[in-house]
Amino acid sequence: MNVPQLVASQKKYAQTTRLQSNAERVKTLLRFKQMLEENEAQLYKAIHADFHKSAHEAFLTEIAILIKDIEEAIRALPKWSRATKVRTNLVNWPGQSFVKPEPFGTCLIIGAWNYPIQLSFAPAIAALAAGNTVILKPSELAENSAQCMANLVGQYFIPELFTVVQGGVTETTALLEQRFDKIFFTGSPAVGKIIYQAAAKHLTPVTLELGGKSPAIITPTAHLPTAIKRLVWAKFLNAGQTCIAPDYVFVHESIYEESLAILKDQIEQNNYDLSAHNYVQIINERNLERLERLLQKEKIAFGGKVDKINRTIEPTILRDINLQDAVMQEEIFGPILPVIAYSNFQETLQLIRNGEKPLSAYLFSNDNREHKAWLNELSFGGGCINDAIMHITNPNLPFGGVGQSGTGSYHGKAGFDTFSHYKSVFKKPRLFEVPLKYPPYSSTKMTWIKRLLKLS
Ligand code: NAD
Repeated sequence: MNVPQLVASQKKYAQTTRLQSNAERVKTLLRFKQMLEENEAQLYKAIHADFHKSAHEAFLTEIAILIKDIEEAIRALPKWSRATKVRTNLVNWPGQSFVKPEPFGTCLIIGAWNYPIQLSFAPAIAALAAGNTVILKPSELAENSAQCMANLVGQYFIPELFTVVQGGVTETTALLEQRFDKIFFTGSPAVGKIIYQAAAKHLTPVTLELGGKSPAIITPTAHLPTAIKRLVWAKFLNAGQTCIAPDYVFVHESIYEESLAILKDQIEQNNYDLSAHNYVQIINERNLERLERLLQKEKIAFGGKVDKINRTIEPTILRDINLQDAVMQEEIFGPILPVIAYSNFQETLQLIRNGEKPLSAYLFSNDNREHKAWLNELSFGGGCINDAIMHITNPNLPFGGVGQSGTGSYHGKAGFDTFSHYKSVFKKPRLFEVPLKYPPYSSTKMTWIKRLLKLS
């Protein structure tokens, strides 16, 4: 495929005024919904081929979210897209001021593999709702999902508006040489830097949805069984291959042994297994081996079994972990939960602050002072108090990281904003004005200007 030609054809299409119309955007969104609904079975089959994920979980974590996104965008589009009046200051009186969102133009969206359909299609929906054209490059690691998306998008959309380009580093590098109007990337901080540099060459605005180590803390004031039930669900969903999964957990020393016992019970009760349709495979052998290296045998409190044939790792709890252990040096992105004992809450916040700003943070506590300290003293993309992961399911909460965990956000209105430029316009009446800015300058004019500036 000829990448420069493809980008040129999308740019030409993006300039047509059709994409400015809400009716046209709604038509595109309805077509998107139709594509998902008519091909649900095919999508589940592809996700199953990549991860052995059940249709039930694929619906909850991938398809349902997209359908909700589309419905919300269609409902809110008239409000999101209209010009908003702002106050005009006295210096500019008489006149009107407003801001109006406009599409950037042609967007490149680069996806990650862990929720291959959702992480590729959700930004595409936001970009199309905002009136852009989209070239989507899904992750080559979830190859069946990528192929399925390419087939479906090819059947339902013209390539000038929305198309999928498949491939890995070579193909992404070729795409990045082109001048896009916006780049939206989901993936690791290391590749995020490559994307940022490539975008800088063209001064292209970017959104980076990255990862890192998201900490959880359980304090003695938490309701322990509930906290652990929620933590376990969040950690082992998708076998820990979730960007906002709790990476590790600090537990107060007074409840450390009790917590380990409840963790074990909860995992056993959940009965994670491919055959139970509530567990998934590790994406590939390379990641399986990487995770295996993080399993310190002498520190395994529960689990630890690796099944190379089925490409799975049992939900695993590591105990007596300290910050120097190998498992604490990189994002785990798998079903291994290190449990660290702490004695002082403030010191724990400081330890987290010493690292990179995480994508998410979770606090299990029923003490308002702890809530306040955690909220005011830690910087992170988003998070939950007394829960984990669930903040991502509220479209009214912008989703994104900060610092090493990302730049920018999306979901709901935030997604529309991410793919829009807000154009500021001042509109003056045809003739009438207060002529203070024109020469000849005088002290009377100066006094009036000062008065007006003060009043503004
Ligand atoms: P990755 O960075 O390896 O790959 C992401 C994308 O970049 C893929 O499409 C890949 O083809 C492309 N890519 C890889 N190397 C490249 C290169 N040298 N040049 C150009 N493009 C390249 O990430 P991944 O393994 O797919 O995903 C795991 C990471 O993504 C984790 O860090 C995770 O936390 C993060 N993540 C973040 C979010 C989020 O929403 N913030 C969601 C999912 C995953």
